[in-house]
Amino acid sequence: MSVLVFADNSEGKFKKTAFEVTSYGKKVAEQAQTNLVVLTINGNDVSELSNYGAEKILKINDEKLINFNAKAYADAIKQAAEKENADIIIIDSNINSLYLAPILAVKLEAGYTSNVVALPSSLNPFTVKRKTFSTKAFNFTEIKTAKKLISLSKNSYGLVENSVKDNEEEFSPSLNDDDFNVTSTSIDKTKGKVTIADADIIVSGGRGLKGPENWGMIEDLAEVLGAATACSKPVSDLGWRPHSEHVGQTGKPVASNLYIAIGISGAIQHLAGVNAAKVKVVINTDPEAPFFKAADYGIIGDAFDVVPKLTEKLKEFKSNQ
Ligand SMILES: Cc1cc2nc3c(=O)[nH]c(=O)nc-3n(C[C@H](O)[C@H](O)[C@H](O)COP(=O)(O)OP(=O)(O)OC[C@H]3O[C@@H](n4cnc5c(N)ncnc54)[C@H](O)[C@@H]3O)c2cc1C
Repeated sequence: MSVLVFADNSEGKFKKTAFEVTSYGKKVAEQAQTNLVVLTINGNDVSELSNYGAEKILKINDEKLINFNAKAYADAIKQAAEKENADIIIIDSNINSLYLAPILAVKLEAGYTSNVVALPSSLNPFTVKRKTFSTKAFNFTEIKTAKKLISLSKNSYGLVENSVKDNEEEFSPSLNDDDFNVTSTSIDKTKGKVTIADADIIVSGGRGLKGPENWGMIEDLAEVLGAATACSKPVSDLGWRPHSEHVGQTGKPVASNLYIAIGISGAIQHLAGVNAAKVKVVINTDPEAPFFKAADYGIIGDAFDVVPKLTEKLKEFKSNQ
């Protein structure tokens, strides 16, 4: 038996999540006293994965799989799991895995649990801690099937460097034409910006900023911090900011290390998307704003006064380094 990790990439480039899921898989393999195999599909620089414990890297290079296709990817991962005799299959929690995981679980006849945040607390019975109710609670889930499929929540385990010998092998799964009845013909992505799903630091603005003309100070703060910009739902509904920046229950969930919320009240639907952020800083004029209850640090003050001063201080701090 082995542990199989699927390390996803974006246009061939591995993101931090691929290294995180590999680090996690390596530790699970150690717990199970077995080997880790990492599967890649059309990835560049796959050897980077061996810095995080990938003892064996299976490489699929196939033009048909350039764009994500849940059915075909599930087929390929299933065949890799069979080839490597893997009982524990681990993927990350990106948007694609929401489509991929259920199909893969059916194909593998595996029990599946999502949003896992820690190493298995037991291998027999196989028990993992996962977040639930929009990260308001945790539960321990037991998977009783022979094969187990889990998705690791982003930023929950971190990167663990563990350099092993680069051992790569080509793999060509047999693909089923029926899986390509619906295909993406082109993808337009926002270019040149850190997306909120991947950002380590996020500066987010709400309706308290009064209008789109005031976003300059949000962008200035984001620039000095190397952060992505985000917003609350009304801000994107009003067209002040693009929908790709909308955070929350009906927007994107974030798992950044730092989330700075400026002029955002902290409605439950917004908090649902930011609960997984590690440190939350709130700037709001209203001391009763609900966001303060969820915050690690809070500044009661006018954003138009506080934010430019904060940006100036950060610039000063950086120039003295
Ligand atoms: C089904 C459903 C789904 C929803 N999904 C989402 C979602 O995914 N994401 C989301 O964000 N919302 C969502 N909402 C909307 C949510 O309920 C709130 O209405 C919304 O989050 C409020 O946005 P806001 O905090 O920017 O605005 P407001 O509620 O208007 O709050 C503005 C805040 O700015 C503060 N403020 C004002 N002036 C200043 C100043 N000068 N300096 C500093 N602070 C100032 C105020 O004190 C206030 O706290 C959803 C609602 C429903 C019903």
